[in-house]
Amino acid sequence: MNYAIAPSPVVSLPINGSDQRFPVRRVFCIGRNYADHAREMGATVDKETPIFFCKPTDALVSDGADVPYPQATADLHHEVEMVIALGAGGSDIPVDKAAALVWGYAIGLDLTRRDLQAIAKAKSHPWDVAKGFDHSAPISALVPASQCQVNEQTRISLRVNDTMRQQAPLGEMVHTVPEIIAALSRLFELKAGDLIFTGTPAGVAALQRGDRFHAELEGVVSLEGTVT
Ligand code: MN
Repeated sequence: MNYAIAPSPVVSLPINGSDQRFPVRRVFCIGRNYADHAREMGATVDKETPIFFCKPTDALVSDGADVPYPQATADLHHEVEMVIALGAGGSDIPVDKAAALVWGYAIGLDLTRRDLQAIAKAKSHPWDVAKGFDHSAPISALVPASQCQVNEQTRISLRVNDTMRQQAPLGEMVHTVPEIIAALSRLFELKAGDLIFTGTPAGVAALQRGDRFHAELEGVVSLEGTVT
C-alpha cells in the first residue's frame, strides 16, 4: 500500500499464557451499569436505554505502564471495570446468542476527567473530552474465556496505594454481559477485536500524581500502574 503518511500501528493486547496478541478494533463502554454508582453520581439507572460511549483504541495503556496525569483536568477519577473482548460480532444479536461471542476477559480502568464530564452534563454536551482522552484506558492482559471461570460471584476490585477503593461482584451489573452485547449490536455492527468496558461500581474517586493502582478481576487477572 502506498500511504501518504505512515499508518498508525495496530493496537493489541497481550494474552495470558500465549505469545500471540489480541488486535483491538474498537473500544466501547457502558455507563451507569451498577445502581450504587449511578446513585453516587446523582443519576438513576435506565434499564431500557443503556448509555454507551467510545474511547479511541490508542487510549489503551498496558499493564505495568505509567499513566501520565492528563492535561485539562484537576479531577481525574478511576472507574474499575471488567472488560470483555469479542471474538466474533454481528448486528441485532439475540441475548441468548451473545455470550458465545466473548473471546476473553480483562480488568481495566475507565479513567474520567470528572470536572469536564460535569460541565458536559450541565451543558448537554457529548462526553468525549471527559472519557476519550489519551491514556484514558489502562487495561490488563486478556484471559481467554476457555481458560477461566467468570460468573456473577466473580468480583472486581481496585486498590490505590494499598487502600481498597472499589469492589463488587459482577452480579451487581444492571445490564448483564449478553444484554450489553445485544444492545450494542442494535446500534453498531460489532466485530472480532471489539472491547467493551462493562461499567463501574460505587467508590469512584480522584487519582493524584504518584498514586499506584492495583485492579483485579479476582481469580482471573490483575492490572497495575502508576499515575505520573
Ligand atoms: Mn465507566
